Amino acid sequence: MKIGTDVHKCIGAGQCVTAAPAVFAQNEEDGMVIVLQDQPQADSIPAALAAIRLCPARAIFERD
Ligand code: SF4
Repeated sequence: MKIGTDVHKCIGAGQCVTAAPAVFAQNEEDGMVIVLQDQPQADSIPAALAAIRLCPARAIFERD
């Protein structure tokens, strides 16, 4: 699994960090998403998929 982001869509809502803190963080200044693991380890994949579902801006997604 690989994570893609569209930072321009991110509204800094933070659901991704809440759902998958090992995979996502937020920029301290503007709240924009930061990907910590763009290829999450197996034990982080369920949380990463949950984060993708929860993002209200559809700013994070699974990519090839
Ligand atoms: S949940 Fe979506 S909109 Fe919110 S910080 Fe994460 S990527 Fe950005």
